[in-house]
Amino acid sequence: MANGCEAKNPEIHHTGTGAGGRKDHAKVIGLCHTHHRGEQGIHTLSRKVWEPIFGTEEQHLQRVALSLR
Ligand SMILES: [Zn+2]
Ligand SMILES: [Zn+2]
Repeated sequence: MANGCEAKNPEIHHTGTGAGGRKDHAKVIGLCHTHHRGEQGIHTLSRKVWEPIFGTEEQHLQRVALSLR
């Protein structure tokens, strides 16, 4: 998978704030600027386009959970 975002200074992205409208402040993931709001950002491409390429928010949440233990 090409979802290895190794940003040194990740920006905080709140997941689940899309069409579902379900907002959970505990569910945040870190994305580098490029994958967050930059050229390949989830906010730039829209979640529908971004997730098949870089992985779903759920997958990123699990990755963050692992790295934080
Ligand atoms: Zn990135
Ligand atoms: Zn965001």
